[in-house]
Amino acid sequence: MAMETAIHTPEVLGWAAHDATGKLSPFIFTRRENGVNDVTIKIMYCGMCRGDVQFAKNDFGNTTYPIVPGYEIVGIVTKTGSNVSNFKIGDRVGVGYVSSSCLDCELCNTSREHYCDQMRPVYNSVASDGTVTYGGYSQMIVADHRYCVHIPENLALERAAPLLVAGITVYSAMKNSNIFECPGKRIGVIGLGGLGHMAVKFGKAFGHQVTVISTSSSKKELAIQRLGADDFILSTDPTQMQGNRRSLDFILDTVSANHSVGPYIELLKVDGTLAIVGAPSKPIDFPSLPLICGKITIKGSIIGSVEEIKEMMEFCEKYEILPEIEIVPINKINEAFDRLAKNDVKFRFVLDIASS
Ligand code: NAP
Repeated sequence: MAMETAIHTPEVLGWAAHDATGKLSPFIFTRRENGVNDVTIKIMYCGMCRGDVQFAKNDFGNTTYPIVPGYEIVGIVTKTGSNVSNFKIGDRVGVGYVSSSCLDCELCNTSREHYCDQMRPVYNSVASDGTVTYGGYSQMIVADHRYCVHIPENLALERAAPLLVAGITVYSAMKNSNIFECPGKRIGVIGLGGLGHMAVKFGKAFGHQVTVISTSSSKKELAIQRLGADDFILSTDPTQMQGNRRSLDFILDTVSANHSVGPYIELLKVDGTLAIVGAPSKPIDFPSLPLICGKITIKGSIIGSVEEIKEMMEFCEKYEILPEIEIVPINKINEAFDRLAKNDVKFRFVLDIASS
């Protein structure tokens, strides 16, 4: 008699939004069985990004409900597939935005898999095997080991979580604008939230003069005293904006809300660069004259590659660069979501999944 292989698709408890209110509630679903290239991860913590709120509320118009958000996932490996040699049970591991890509195109072969046409995000997507991807607001995930990274022993798991997206997004955008190669530049960071505060930390660590450009006067002291920024511009004050005209070499825009980048372009020196990583739901508009008269470059950037995440983890361990976090127990998940939407976080919420 032929032996039958039992297929075990594990049931998982997660927290999902079921409609555009974005309200999260317990949700039981199944994950795929651990495949040959997979690791199964008991999720300990998951960072809460403003993007999670945007997807949960269908801001981009592409949300499929129910949606389990969360792409800043850290945990412990509990199972490994037969092709996995670089992770073992008990390892501390992280998973970010990418759950799969084709692994065969020019982009995948040059460590740019996050730009692959067939890249599938860790939630709100359909994996190559046809299963829906659900994110890290859940107790367990099965992830392809080729998109996982080790969390260095000296980094506390909960503080490492936001590095998987907030950290790598700004690290990669700055690195690929050659910001890390030449210290002593004047760089600006628009929006002092989850992404923005990491940009300030990386900017300082790489020896730059960092200016925070913010809509919140209450963040000035935090920016300078806690994060080490050199200057602070209140973007709603025309006098401060005018007084800093043509003063910056590079600006990173992390703003989630719809806004015009025109006033910010005026802050750039001739030949300056504005890199956009924030993702407002409406098109970003900019006036042409300051752009052409200042020979300004505007570019975009999404997250970073697995290789860049590994490099960033090592850098953060070496120089003790860690996100500023507030731990959120699972019973406060909706309160934290509401506070995120109201710009009331300093600077990243991290869900405590394991103790919940
Ligand atoms: P966050 O913590 O909410 O920070 C965003 C900051 O934007 C706020 O702290 C606020 O800073 C500023 N802001 C809010 N409303 C504003 C307005 N009306 N005008 C100007 N500034 C405003 O959000 P986050 O988690 O850092 O995420 C930021 C954005 O990045 C989101 O859109 C998210 O989807 C996107 N994202 C992109 C990538 C990528 O790969 N490119 C990856 C992750 C997230 P101030 O109070 O200082 O003004």
